Amino acid sequence: MRTHRSVDLQDVEEGIKVKVAGWLASCRDQGSILFIIIRDGWGEIQITLRKGETSEKLMEKARHIPPHSALVVEGIARRDLRAPWGMEVVPSRITIASRARRAPPFNVYGGDLPSLDKRLDVRAVDLRRVKAQAIFKIRHLTLQAIREFFVGEGFLEVQTPKIIATATEGGAALFPLLYFDKEAFLAQSPQLYKEQLTMAFDRVFEIGPIFRAEPSRTLRHLSEAISVDAEIAFAEYKSVMKVLEELMVRVVDKILNGARRELEILNYKPERPKLPMPRITYRRCLEILKGRNSNKPFGEDLDATDLKILGEELGGYYFIIDWPLRLKPFYIKPSRGRSELSESFDLMYRDLELASGGTRVHNKRLLMKRLREQGLEPKSFGHHLKVFDYGMPPHAGFGLGLDRLVMVLTGQGNIREVTAYPRDVRRLTP
Ligand code: ATP
Ligand code: MG
Repeated sequence: MRTHRSVDLQDVEEGIKVKVAGWLASCRDQGSILFIIIRDGWGEIQITLRKGETSEKLMEKARHIPPHSALVVEGIARRDLRAPWGMEVVPSRITIASRARRAPPFNVYGGDLPSLDKRLDVRAVDLRRVKAQAIFKIRHLTLQAIREFFVGEGFLEVQTPKIIATATEGGAALFPLLYFDKEAFLAQSPQLYKEQLTMAFDRVFEIGPIFRAEPSRTLRHLSEAISVDAEIAFAEYKSVMKVLEELMVRVVDKILNGARRELEILNYKPERPKLPMPRITYRRCLEILKGRNSNKPFGEDLDATDLKILGEELGGYYFIIDWPLRLKPFYIKPSRGRSELSESFDLMYRDLELASGGTRVHNKRLLMKRLREQGLEPKSFGHHLKVFDYGMPPHAGFGLGLDRLVMVLTGQGNIREVTAYPRDVRRLTP
């Protein structure tokens, strides 16, 4: 229905016929001249109606189009340096493709924003906000940068099942569902499958949903999130951290270079990681906490308060490495000679965990022992354990939360702002 998108107007010759389309964002009526701004998926277009140039009938029609109506406008392109893209459209015809029946419950194009909840209730309209558009453009570029990076490093992109028969990491946090006449679960991570796929493809990555049933009520947890998972054969955790930190640089550079306009709109500039990122041991974290009068016994997990302190002390991007084995899932490898520790890491940005990873156990006997130590039944992992008899390579990998990464890249404090249709304890619609 259109010949040109908003962005295309910057390249057209003055005087040519154009047909553009979008949603009415604003109408400025100065009596003898009328400026209509429509927005499409790429930006804004100025439609200019002048007395004497445009028919009275068309001007009258234009005056009464409700905001947010979907329009198709035919006309002539005319240079105007004040207009978006340096080009305005002088209309000969305006078709209302879909008349807005009511005004959104808040002003999408400026003014005070209502609560996030009110906006999420009409998310499709909320996403027309200029800032929301910038966030999702950056999310899109982030995915593109991630894929470019992995493909360049020889990884194969895979998809693994999201309906599974057994818990990946033990019971607690799974959504059960009825699979024909059996009980099944939504996958909390592609962990075991991606490990198996290293046997065939060496290096794999997956970008897909993970489902977490912990009833979290925080600004950084969703029940359905997108995870960027990587797994590498013939590698251990230290080399995987190098891959992950290089990925981070690549992504941040892509955003700094490719999303200048969007970052300006958000009034934010993500920090470029300096490599190598600091590697701080879990033990060292306990010392830092002690120095801030926050004693934590060895073996306990770091909670939100601890991470806040560490974020203040360490700032920027850093790895927390060598976690106590008991805090990590059964598939994480114990450290050589220090079996109370593990070959594991978390990638942090200030107090926000972005990724977790480590060397995996590739020895079947050890894996069965670790399962039992964590109170899990090796029998229920029979299908997984079986493949370890056929040359499971030493391997390591990580899971990186895409939504959390986009929070850091766009400067958002609430994960719901970077997710089109967030799912949490309270929200299952729209
Ligand atoms: P947290 O301790 O913050 O709850 P986690 O350690 O349980 O996270 P992992 O199982 O290590 O999470 O998952 C790997 C990554 O996936 C996390 O570092 C995070 O970026 C992302 N992630 C995990 N759970 C969620 C969630 N509920 N919502 C959004 N992202 C998540
Ligand atoms: Mg983790």
